[in-house]
Amino acid sequence: MIPSTTLNDGTTIPQLGFGTFLVPPEETAATVGTALEVGYRHIDTAQLYGNEAEVGQAIAESGLARDEVYLTSKVGNGEHKPDDVYRSFDETLEKLRVDKLDLFLIHWPLPTRYDGDFVSTWKAMVDLVQQGRLASAGVSNFQPAHLERIIGETGVAPAVNQIEAHPYFRNDDARKASHEHAIAVEAWGPLGQGAVLKDETVGGIAAAIDRAPSQVILRWHIQRGDIIFPKSMRRERMVENFQIFDFALTDEQMAQIDALDRGPEGRVGPDPDTFD
Ligand code: NAD
Repeated sequence: MIPSTTLNDGTTIPQLGFGTFLVPPEETAATVGTALEVGYRHIDTAQLYGNEAEVGQAIAESGLARDEVYLTSKVGNGEHKPDDVYRSFDETLEKLRVDKLDLFLIHWPLPTRYDGDFVSTWKAMVDLVQQGRLASAGVSNFQPAHLERIIGETGVAPAVNQIEAHPYFRNDDARKASHEHAIAVEAWGPLGQGAVLKDETVGGIAAAIDRAPSQVILRWHIQRGDIIFPKSMRRERMVENFQIFDFALTDEQMAQIDALDRGPEGRVGPDPDTFD
């Protein structure tokens, strides 16, 4: 049974989902179809991933009811202008074959091809919720200063902030700023995009409790309270990553993994303050 997290707008989201970054479009329908068979009911995609239509296909072919699958997408960096937010949101709904989306995020704070800023983008996202076509609006890769700006200028806090976080980069500054505004944290790259899987400390804990390293890392995230959606295109790994609710790490094991943090040096993705 996957626990749910209640967001600051009263909606709920499964704490474990399935990520689709770098899943090629031609393999997405089969991959997401397998994830749904395994039991995942929360799929994370993005306009920039180029696979929304195939995610929509997999859900349609699964026979699952619309309200059984939680769906997230993200507005692309080239679509930050409010008119583009509305147009590209319509395209996202069409590709995913839904008339309402569960969660839509500003993918990165810095726009390309637009000299306005993310506050105007945020206002359009909030408007989509008011129109009733979007259940929850959120952001991704927002640093504390980005959060302060949108909340200061609109009075509306995002439901989630999806940020890079894993044992090598705990990203506690952005997590703390999010929590101060009751914003749920989604940890992207929960396995450090694979980098943390061979870690000796993680391997030692995994051997001691007869679990896979991926399960130890994902369990650490769950016990920190973050929402995660690891990505694998292999069924056995999808199953492994799904089986993390029948054991717990001790406080000492949690502390050992906490101690692996390398600060910003541990990032595997771009710095949100400069990436566009
Ligand atoms: P991840 O941390 O989930 O790692 C994926 C890598 O780990 C893949 O190479 C996979 O083969 C390997 N792996 C997965 N399970 C394994 C297992 N059990 N055993 C061994 N290897 C395993 O990285 P990710 O895909 O980048 O992050 C997860 C999701 O987060 C993405 O798919 C995407 O949906 C989202 N994401 C969002 C952003 C953003 O800017 N908002 C950026 C990156 C990723």
